[in-house]
Amino acid sequence: MRIEEDIKLGFKDVLIRPKRSTLKSRSDVELQREFTFKHPGCTWSGVPIIAANMDTVGTFRMAEALASFDVVTAVHKHYTVEQWRAFVARVPESILRHVMVSTGTSEADFVKMKQILALSPLLTFICIDVANGYSEHFVNFLQKAREACPNNVICAGNVVTGEMVEELILSGADIVKVGIGPGSVCTTRVKTGVGYPQLSAVIECADAAHGLSGQIVSDGGCSVPGDVAKAFGGGADFVMLGGMLAGHDECEGTLVEENGEKFMLFYGMSSESAMNRHVGGVAQYRAAEGKTVRLPLRGPVEHSIRDILGGLRSACTYVGASRLKELTKRTTFIRVAEQENQVFTQL
Ligand code: 5GP
Repeated sequence: MRIEEDIKLGFKDVLIRPKRSTLKSRSDVELQREFTFKHPGCTWSGVPIIAANMDTVGTFRMAEALASFDVVTAVHKHYTVEQWRAFVARVPESILRHVMVSTGTSEADFVKMKQILALSPLLTFICIDVANGYSEHFVNFLQKAREACPNNVICAGNVVTGEMVEELILSGADIVKVGIGPGSVCTTRVKTGVGYPQLSAVIECADAAHGLSGQIVSDGGCSVPGDVAKAFGGGADFVMLGGMLAGHDECEGTLVEENGEKFMLFYGMSSESAMNRHVGGVAQYRAAEGKTVRLPLRGPVEHSIRDILGGLRSACTYVGASRLKELTKRTTFIRVAEQENQVFTQL
């Protein structure tokens, strides 16, 4: 047993220090970024925010709504190939450029992923994720996917430490998914005691990835737009959001009514709800590592995404970053013991 003594930080432990700025307006801030991906060598530009590949967030409808903001959706892995075929036939090119095809790591998943990718050359992004990206089985799958799909951009995870980021990039990942335990409906830290404060994971993993010309996506733990700014400030190239985009009209979640009020169910992908829905229950040998919550309906996602992008533009103006790309080098975090003033949160 060993103990690491240096303090690891989450979003709630810091604020971004304001800096002198010459920017006149938030509208001067450019949120689009252009990336060249390590393995396929192709480029992509857009707003580097990704709706999570959870079955009530990463929906086809979400992809259509978010693409108009130049934002990406990692479409969940539970649509059939036929549903994908209809989607690809129906939507314009601009939407397919903003879509990731998610896959698990079984042989059947591999076959299905290839069938979906074959539907359109515009489907360039693949998202391969498992709860524990440290497993050898996962790395083998990643290598196989890289060989089979040399022209695709592969996003793979989840991990939280630099050495595993390097291993995934060398095994074929272009973007490494970073986050174990921070998610809004995740109970991994409670059930297993395993995890890593998200901001430190981002800072350490970004450094490892950038050294190999790879990118990272900060996945999980953002609860307000300021957290998204902190993730980018810490060095994330992309930020993935689940809970912040849940409960909207585009989510295709189950609606429940209580005392005349309507709610939408939102649950972790390793929760009992998800396992009941997709694999016929929780296997004997495992515990659910996600929970189910009821969210008040939040209407169209466009209001929430505008709020997030507006917050991000504002963060950039506070530190004098005219482009999102500059936010990291203009960020100084200060460690704090307080965040929001809670006096009126009852109202
Ligand atoms: P959020 O933005 O809601 O804080 O986090 C979203 C992320 O939580 C997802 O992208 C995924 O990585 C993670 N996640 C989703 N469902 C589960 C789950 O059931 N268990 C765990 N451990 N993580 C989950």
